[in-house]
Amino acid sequence: MKAEIVSVGTELVLGEIVDTNATYICQQLANIGVDLYLRHTVDDDQGRMAGLLQDARRRCEVIIITGGLGPTPDDLTREALAQVTSRPLHTVAAAEQQLEEFFARRGVAPTANNLKQCQVPRGGRLLTNSCGTAPGILLEHDNCTFIALPGPPAEMQQMLHDSVIPYLREQIRRVGGQELFTRTLRLCDIGESNTAQLLADILDTQSDPAVALYASPGEVRVRISTKADCEVEAMQRLDAVEQIVRERLAERVYGIDEETMEVAVGQALLAAGATLAVAESCTGGLIANRITDVPGSSQYFLSGYITYSNESKQQLLGVSDEIIEEYGAVSEPCARAMAEGAREHSGADYAVAVTGIAGPTGGTPQKPVGLAYIAVADEQDTICQEHYWPGTREQFKRRTSQMALNVVRKRVMGLV
Ligand code: AMP
Ligand code: MG
Repeated sequence: MKAEIVSVGTELVLGEIVDTNATYICQQLANIGVDLYLRHTVDDDQGRMAGLLQDARRRCEVIIITGGLGPTPDDLTREALAQVTSRPLHTVAAAEQQLEEFFARRGVAPTANNLKQCQVPRGGRLLTNSCGTAPGILLEHDNCTFIALPGPPAEMQQMLHDSVIPYLREQIRRVGGQELFTRTLRLCDIGESNTAQLLADILDTQSDPAVALYASPGEVRVRISTKADCEVEAMQRLDAVEQIVRERLAERVYGIDEETMEVAVGQALLAAGATLAVAESCTGGLIANRITDVPGSSQYFLSGYITYSNESKQQLLGVSDEIIEEYGAVSEPCARAMAEGAREHSGADYAVAVTGIAGPTGGTPQKPVGLAYIAVADEQDTICQEHYWPGTREQFKRRTSQMALNVVRKRVMGLV
């Protein structure tokens, strides 16, 4: 099954916002084995949109459009769909009623342009939007399915998972094709080349399940994929390869699929019934931000201290004058004192501290840009690691946060 993606919006063409929707949709479609060769971006112009859709529908079986479904006059996706398919728009009564109820609960009446969102080209159906007002549209026409999703990423993602992926899986089955099933193992503490070496035999020889590597700052992913007639069969094959990878990489595998490092840390803390505090210098709050991205993190996350200046390290965390004067703020003794201070002041079971030189300025021959110290204090001991990650400021912050979370994970699980 071939698909093309169309992102609609003048703001996208002008570069005012980044097209994260297309990236997300492509990842999800690739995961179920849909073939993708072309991606498009078009402004809020009905004629250009219709022209693009007209060309695309000759090349593929599915076109996924995001954006332009809202209530404002520049939202013209449904009109363009009606134009390309020569199917007039009509109002879906049930959707109109739902929208009226939605507004009634908020004590306001929908405006005429809100009601426009309940229109669909003849023969099409509306897709439920469980986190917004604009429904999506699914329209099968002449061997091509047009699927239009709202622009706001949260709404688009929800609808993609609730309605679109199940629909596409069903279509793939119906035409007798095999579905693709994938599992991604996420690794830390190891680079791409070492991973490749440890998995050389399965990377080179395996074609089903296929095994591939992807690297990003602070993490390597091993993607295992297989084509199968049914999910049970696929899971058995994925399990078998996952087991081999785990045998060779052990605790470097920290998560699967959408399980980020912050999720893994949360799970470890919950399993141990333990709490965490964070003291951050060079990451400026990124670690605390990532921890609190996880729903339910209030169960284990107590406090975050952003101690950027020497004075705040002293005042908030009790780092001594001697440490600052003798070793400086970017040093192992300072990282240890920060972690111990954070643990003491917060009352948490574990505290992690980071201090380092993010750059691009501020480095010296003794303490170059990219130097970082990560300390974790608990009841027993305080451990500290020195790292050196030259790169951009953004990469440095990301890597430091990733590694700090990983040290917490391993400490809580008794692995370091
Ligand atoms: P629209 O439905 O086109 O009016 O889009 C509503 C809002 O969703 C826009 O103002 C953007 O903030 C967001 N949005 C639309 N398209 C995209 C996209 N391709 N990627 C990320 N955000 C988007
Ligand atoms: Mg728009």
